[in-house]
Amino acid sequence: MAKRNTLIAGNWKMNASGDMAETLTDGLKAWQGGEGVELLVCPPFPYLGPVGAMIAESAIKLGAQTCHARSSGAHTGDVAAEMLADLGCSYVLVGHSERRADHGESDADVRAQTEAAHRAGITAIVCVGETDSQRDQGQTLDTVNRQLAGSIPDGATAANLVVAYEPVWAIGTGRTPTEAEVQEVHAAIRATLSARFGAATADATRLLYGGSMKPSNAKGLLALPDVDGGLIGGASLKSEDFLAIADAAV
Ligand code: PEP
Repeated sequence: MAKRNTLIAGNWKMNASGDMAETLTDGLKAWQGGEGVELLVCPPFPYLGPVGAMIAESAIKLGAQTCHARSSGAHTGDVAAEMLADLGCSYVLVGHSERRADHGESDADVRAQTEAAHRAGITAIVCVGETDSQRDQGQTLDTVNRQLAGSIPDGATAANLVVAYEPVWAIGTGRTPTEAEVQEVHAAIRATLSARFGAATADATRLLYGGSMKPSNAKGLLALPDVDGGLIGGASLKSEDFLAIADAAV
């Protein structure tokens, strides 16, 4: 089995101010690092430059929360993956459920954004996950598999793709699936990747869990065999909590 680095990714969403971004980033510099653990922060677009400058000398990676499919053009308010690369981003989230819901992003949109990230040399973190009612109707695996098929382009590799499984009903709610349920979905995602890209790629691709991950539940979730890290929203806004989750991965 491939040895996969653990990725602990903080999604700040539309939170922070200049001062808060500075304080939060400053707090993260206390991170001692951990063997095989990568720490990633995804601030809102306006803070990518300042946060990137603050972490430039550290091992902490910079990522963005979305990107446009095109590299330039008449797309007011949008940001190209190439611009993110210019700012030092090595990761970008695509297909977060809040983007899918707030901006009507479809699997085809997410696939085009993932291709854009790859074109710019950025690793795409493709987010998938079922809603409450899809889970209640026993459609979790069908939903996730449909999203994987539609959102991941053929050119994906273990180096340029990370998949984040984020049950929509667990995001920001304090509710999480059981560890057995998380492992079941992650194993299914790896099997789906294996069927499409081959066992070696699937084995080396990192799968993150996201949805109310916090210091108190991180150790158990991160210890699951097919969980290779976390995508963390609320708990990434306090440096002590985010670093406690990173420490739980070591
Ligand atoms: C997220 O939005 O990606 C997320 C996982 O949020 P939270 O940790 O707050 O549930």
